Amino acid sequence: MAEEATIRTGLVFDERYLQHNPGLKVLPNGEAYPWVEPELHWSNHRLVQRTKQLIDLSGISAYLKLLPPRMASLEEIERFHTPGYVARVERLCIEGGGDAGQGAPVNAGSFEVARLAAGGALTAVEAVYTDEVRRAFALIRPPGHHAVANLGMGFCVFNNVVLAALHAREVFGAERIVIVDWDVHNGNGTQQAFYNDRGVLFFSIHQDRLYPSDSGLLEQDGEGDGKGFTVNIPLPAGSGDAAYLALFDELILPVIDAYEPDLILVSAGQDASIMDQLGRMCLTTEAYRRMTSLMINRAERHALGKLVILQEGGYSETYGPYATLAIIETLAGSHAELPEPLPYERIVAQPHHSEVGPSARTAIDAAIEHYKQYWDTLG
Ligand code: ZN
Repeated sequence: MAEEATIRTGLVFDERYLQHNPGLKVLPNGEAYPWVEPELHWSNHRLVQRTKQLIDLSGISAYLKLLPPRMASLEEIERFHTPGYVARVERLCIEGGGDAGQGAPVNAGSFEVARLAAGGALTAVEAVYTDEVRRAFALIRPPGHHAVANLGMGFCVFNNVVLAALHAREVFGAERIVIVDWDVHNGNGTQQAFYNDRGVLFFSIHQDRLYPSDSGLLEQDGEGDGKGFTVNIPLPAGSGDAAYLALFDELILPVIDAYEPDLILVSAGQDASIMDQLGRMCLTTEAYRRMTSLMINRAERHALGKLVILQEGGYSETYGPYATLAIIETLAGSHAELPEPLPYERIVAQPHHSEVGPSARTAIDAAIEHYKQYWDTLG
């Protein structure tokens, strides 16, 4: 067991997170897949459950402070979501479940669990601001980054990262918040929340036009006072570790340094992993270690260490938990006692692991070219 005084990383988790049940995997029109045995919905409980089990089995829990989440109040949720939407989700759950918008299925218990997920994000923010821990990972579900003010979308009910940012601003006086969203899908709900707002600098790195297909384009770069403070970086399928790390070095880190945030939040969907069912971005655990390390470094440089990483998507039951463990190990500054399973080592021999491919190079150059009009550091 690690000495209590050395534990500086919090983990938000609660068994009740496993009780949100989106049902079976269905087609966008709600019908079952024809001719095949029904499967659990993409966003079922197993990824988070298996991740928590892996964290515990690995021995890394000894280096983490467990932070029990509290329930977010309706007032806290309505800092972003409309009261009409919140009431609609509650009613839907009382009636036994349904779709909270566009592809955001809920069951009878989901309203409480979604409030506990949002509350987990707030708990993590409170823990870093009160020095209970220096940084934190919130292993929460349902995810949040697609949820817009008046609608659930893409498996997301309440936008946890948006609520975390608003909480940091309203309760703790945060003035410049960076959100890095490395989920393979564009964080359209987060983009909506802060599109006119230079108090939040939002980066979304995602597979080009995956979901939502009309959101996350390079040219969607904020409005009014927030012009240039939404930074969308669409990358081609197959980009891999090398492209992501080049993007951090050449664009994301210089812009963060110019902005000098007082808090860093990460929307961490591990659906950019090489074995994900819904994404094709080919990241290995090494990329997640490196990106986390860079976020810790920038939080230490600018924000007195304050870093909160929130679980978003991720659909590989086998590899996803290892990707998330890599993040948590890096946060905790300690490696798990279990080695990574050998079958996964061979995937790092793929070219995209060490070389930026031509289509990824073109996409990164286009992003730098576009955003240098707002950020001199890129010039
Ligand atoms: Zn996703």
